Amino acid sequence: MTKKCIYCGAEVSDECVIDFCEKCGKSVWGEKMFNAILQNMETARANGDLCHDNVIKGVPRETNSFRGF
Ligand SMILES: [Zn+2]
Repeated sequence: MTKKCIYCGAEVSDECVIDFCEKCGKSVWGEKMFNAILQNMETARANGDLCHDNVIKGVPRETNSFRGF
């Protein structure tokens, strides 16, 4: 089963902890931030604590186009 990038509609691996593709993630947050988010989310998932509030912690609020998880 696959899910789709919330920005461009590209297929995203269901294994992936994020709902958007790498390309969009990097264009929205920049590569460094994107990698940090990925890492945070993977850590959260590993802890069995993939809570929305935890996931978006540290994400800049100016990303108004971001629809959330
Ligand atoms: Zn995309």
